[in-house]
Amino acid sequence: MTERYAVIGHPVAHSQSPAIHARFAQATGQKIEYGRVEAPLDGFERAVDEFRASGGKGLNVTLPFKQAAFRYCNDVADRAREGLVVNTLMFGERTRGDNTDGVGLVRDIEGNLAVPLGGKAVLLMGAGGAAQGVVGALLAARVGELVIANRTFAKAEALAARFKATAARYDDIRDPFDLVINATSAGLGTEPAAFPVAAIGKATLAYDMVYGRVTPFLQAAGAKGAKCADGLGMLVEQAAESFFLWRGVRPPTRSVLASLRGR
Ligand code: NAP
Repeated sequence: MTERYAVIGHPVAHSQSPAIHARFAQATGQKIEYGRVEAPLDGFERAVDEFRASGGKGLNVTLPFKQAAFRYCNDVADRAREGLVVNTLMFGERTRGDNTDGVGLVRDIEGNLAVPLGGKAVLLMGAGGAAQGVVGALLAARVGELVIANRTFAKAEALAARFKATAARYDDIRDPFDLVINATSAGLGTEPAAFPVAAIGKATLAYDMVYGRVTPFLQAAGAKGAKCADGLGMLVEQAAESFFLWRGVRPPTRSVLASLRGR
């Protein structure tokens, strides 16, 4: 029997997740259908209830519902509980929530990009759902130093305090880091993108979770001669972990990533 999954968000039309899961299903011989659910901003719970009642088995959760998804669950994996955000829902007798963003990010950086995280000085920019979901995994990968900075400093402080990491204001950052991760949506809207250019040096890996466009952050990093990466690899790796949670089968990721990049 074909089981149904989807990505839920607002907006969600741009999501690459259906294309990724279709490739995973084909590669592993799993019979699944994977669609999109655009929930109204004030209607996340109702949309999840309806999807579940119509026989849906699981959802990926994207912007801006990861915190709401955490609250929706009655059973939550440790790695989701520590960040207070859920990106994967599994429907059985109970609704279990997990977060695969952290493991997706680490697998992309250490596996696909071949950059070991152990001992590295890392700046994480942002304190929203994406940043919350990856702090635990970065610490578990034994980075040497983790500084969290955000345009609204109080949110960086709160996130850093929860994980015993360090918070910083953008203006206070003067020196380059080994790795700078942009977990903000800066530059996607109409407001100017704020980020500390001093954090980027020639030897920095500048990693933007956004994919499919060159953000102001990656433009600045490229101009400084830094190595740049977008978030498509993270998207594929976090999707693979969700697929594994749902189906118990690990799909190939490198070939899927290459095909999405048109290689
Ligand atoms: P979110 O919860 O809405 O948080 C947005 C973050 O961006 C906040 O820290 C916000 O700072 C910051 N921000 C927004 N506009 C800014 C600007 N002009 N200058 C500086 N900072 C700004 O969103 P999210 O869920 O964390 O997602 C962030 C991005 O990551 C999205 O673009 C999303 O698509 C991407 N993402 C990618 C993947 C992947 O697999 N590749 C996974 C997860 C997320 P304030 O607190 O000051 O408002």
